[in-house]
Amino acid sequence: MIVIGGGLAGLAAGVALAEAGWRVRLFEQRPFLGGRATSYVLPDGEHVDNCQHVTFGCCTNLEDFYRRVGAADKIKFFDGLLLLDPQGRRGEMSPGMFPAPFHMTSSFLTFSPLALKDKLCIARAFSDILFSGGHPRDLDEPGGISMLEWLRRRKQTPAAIGRFWRTVLVSALSEELGKRTGHVDLYLTSSRIEKYMKETKNLNANVDFYSASTYYSLGIPIDLFTPIFAVSRMSGWTAHVLEQYRNNRLIRPRADYIGTAVGQPWVPIEKR
Ligand SMILES: Cc1cc2nc3c(=O)[nH]c(=O)nc-3n(C[C@H](O)[C@H](O)[C@H](O)COP(=O)(O)OP(=O)(O)OC[C@H]3O[C@@H](n4cnc5c(N)ncnc54)[C@H](O)[C@@H]3O)c2cc1C
Repeated sequence: MIVIGGGLAGLAAGVALAEAGWRVRLFEQRPFLGGRATSYVLPDGEHVDNCQHVTFGCCTNLEDFYRRVGAADKIKFFDGLLLLDPQGRRGEMSPGMFPAPFHMTSSFLTFSPLALKDKLCIARAFSDILFSGGHPRDLDEPGGISMLEWLRRRKQTPAAIGRFWRTVLVSALSEELGKRTGHVDLYLTSSRIEKYMKETKNLNANVDFYSASTYYSLGIPIDLFTPIFAVSRMSGWTAHVLEQYRNNRLIRPRADYIGTAVGQPWVPIEKR
């Protein structure tokens, strides 16, 4: 049996098939398993867990997978979710008498950090997600939109954004709401390739090496990568050709970066 993709779904399918007696071959295009459920090590050595912070009792397939690989006891379930806002207001979300997906309704209605108008706009945003089958139409806009923009379009109040959405989403996506989620995996793959090429061929990455992952994370279509590369160089190339024709000699410029090895500190534009 062949499984394509070594994310949670592929791994869960592979393990279940193997336990059912199948011979499984799993193909993963990236050099590591886990897919979006990943972690990475920062240059200072800190290990960052980038995914799967939250699971619910209804995620039965995930629980089944954790049980099969012997990790079920690593998950800690809580009956309620306690939220504390910066002003010290506490609110608890816990299941009530209604069946799922409405089991949190009563605790949501009595949730003290939010006023009624905040709750109503959150409920409206949730109903938009539910009625669009989990795929609101703005997601298909070219380049996508940030989560913060999505919330503003749904007229979410500052309290709803600050006390509810930011708490829930920043913890799950490891991102501020104003930013689109970057592709940490592409950056990690690029840096591994850079290291490998340096070690095995003594080749330095050129100035454009990280452009692809940056452009991709910015939502720029792949077909535009080369035109962007070219357009930013047109004036330089033109000057080069003019100089070359003037002397009728082929110019082969050599340039080695002799600046600081750790790069320059980044200064926000308004502080420059
Ligand atoms: C930052 C972040 C936080 C999250 N937090 C939570 C959370 O708290 N709780 C929760 O329940 N969910 C969370 N999620 C969502 C959850 O991680 C994903 O839903 C889940 O990991 C998806 O698993 P998957 O196997 O379906 O897909 P993926 O993880 O996307 O795996 C697909 C795999 O298939 C591989 N692949 C694709 N095409 C090919 C091919 N042609 N050949 C070979 N390999 C291929 C890909 O490289 C990838 O490894 C989070 C996601 C992110 C990014």
